[in-house]
Amino acid sequence: MSSNSQSFEGMQLSPEILSGLKDLKFETPTPIQSEVIPEILSGSRDLLGIAQTGTGKTAAFGLPIIEQIDPNKKQVQALILCPTRELCMQITKDIKHFTKYVPKIAAVAIYGGSSMSQQVHKLHDGAQIAVGTPGRIKDLINRGRLNLGNIQWLVLDEADDMLDKGFKEDLDAILDGTPETKQTLLFSATMSPWIQKVAKQRMRNPREIKVSSESQGADNVEHKYVTVHARDRYAALRRLLDVNPDVYGIVFCRTRRDTKEVAAKLIEDNYAAQAIHGDISQDERSDTMTRFRQKDIQIMVATDVAARGIDVSDLTHIINYELPDSPETYVHRSGRTGRAGKAGISLTIIHMKEHGKLRRIESIMKKKFTQMDVPTGKAICEAQLMSLVHRVRTTEVDHEKLKPYLDAIHSELGDLSHDELIKHFISAEFNRFLKHYSNVKDISTQKSMYEDRNYGGQGRGGQGRGGQRQGQRPQQGGHHGQGRKDIQFRTYKLSVGKQDGFGPKALFDMINNNQSLKGIEIGGIHVQPKDTKFEADARYHDKVMSFLGRESYRGHKVRIFEA
Ligand code: ADP
Ligand code: MG
Repeated sequence: MSSNSQSFEGMQLSPEILSGLKDLKFETPTPIQSEVIPEILSGSRDLLGIAQTGTGKTAAFGLPIIEQIDPNKKQVQALILCPTRELCMQITKDIKHFTKYVPKIAAVAIYGGSSMSQQVHKLHDGAQIAVGTPGRIKDLINRGRLNLGNIQWLVLDEADDMLDKGFKEDLDAILDGTPETKQTLLFSATMSPWIQKVAKQRMRNPREIKVSSESQGADNVEHKYVTVHARDRYAALRRLLDVNPDVYGIVFCRTRRDTKEVAAKLIEDNYAAQAIHGDISQDERSDTMTRFRQKDIQIMVATDVAARGIDVSDLTHIINYELPDSPETYVHRSGRTGRAGKAGISLTIIHMKEHGKLRRIESIMKKKFTQMDVPTGKAICEAQLMSLVHRVRTTEVDHEKLKPYLDAIHSELGDLSHDELIKHFISAEFNRFLKHYSNVKDISTQKSMYEDRNYGGQGRGGQGRGGQRQGQRPQQGGHHGQGRKDIQFRTYKLSVGKQDGFGPKALFDMINNNQSLKGIEIGGIHVQPKDTKFEADARYHDKVMSFLGRESYRGHKVRIFEA
């Protein structure tokens, strides 16, 4: 798609909006944004957008609407309808971010279960954008508190879900009270008969924009599976989580019952996990979501239906505790990671008889699964240990607050050597793991061909293996070197250099830290006082930019540039 290479700067958005995007680190538009933003900016034709979650729809409709709102008119000019209260809050928050530098534009979230008077108050104050669930919006209209007579844009977000939730009647009532002249923008993950019907009844000759599931960042997702006996499913899950200490993801189960069971076991085994399914009250769900967003919860265990409400974009992993019935559902699940250009991993636990299901998924997904072994106890201990060491290294030290205790600490530990001290601290934290995994058996029922390279995720496993690092270490060979002649290099610059104590070893450690960069060929390395240039296999370009751009070194955030 050529329009995909468009930039936000080239879209006739105001400098204020562009500054907001810069703060959000939105660098390039997603495919649906490149299609939809110019369309809304340049015309008033109705629009029907078909795209899965996570494709960036909020900015796709939000930015061009904000751009065109008249800030001096203190009346509702855009109405955004969405199915849930969480989404409503999320969209309102996104709009706040988009308008950070745009004066005099305000959005109000309107949903049931919270104070109506506050919402009315904001409307009174002249909010130009109302974001609401159909029930409460209709309520406010009926009470004469909300006037839609001046709206120019009507957005139906996640329209399929709104219809599924039985909001059709409310929608009709609301839409009947809106002006003929408005532009209607409908977004849905699927093109169901219901959607077609609404489009026919409520839209004028809409332009249809479809972002196919293949282009929704699927390229950033690696698909891997382990094969175990059904009875070892939970043990396999634990090991997959353990080999990825920084996992932030969703574990999918098929039924509510499994969801509850798996979550309960994980919690009992001390994981920061939580279940989310239909039996959970709205309040509890909001609370869980907040904690998940803040990463107090690392793992959500969910059914497919409940996972729709999990609106988080930087998931590192999707774990299929069980495969879903339909291949499309798998594609949808795995599309929850690898969003907005970031890399993601979808892990699946299967038993021997489920290989056929994988083939069916591969054929609709047009991508292959890689088999991997259930991580061994040793690999897990390494990953955990290196994660701990990394955390220790990057922890900020508050010298002032520590000061009063230093004497006491020194008198207790002062006689230990540097080496002993390290060992004591690590053991204090780590013995629990060593103990659990010192003697576990291998539970893979089928082994992969590529032993070392194929486990779990970005586990810290490869780092710091002392003398035996050759196998793990990205090869540093000149690009003129023999046997590697086909490799194309790209040159990068990292914002750390000799002055920061950075060097080739630190670079390799950083690369080894990221499973996705394993095996990458590194060319020349040039460490300068303030920065470091290096060459790397061009095929890993996106991964290099995204992974190394997230690293920190001795407390400094590392930036990466293409040199
Ligand atoms: P959708 O509504 O399609 O499910 P969202 O609008 O919620 O998707 O966007 C998904 C995630 O991607 C959000 O966290 C959002 O901040 C992020 N995002 C959207 N557009 C971009 C972009 N152009 N660059 C980087 N991140 C983006
Ligand atoms: Mg959305």
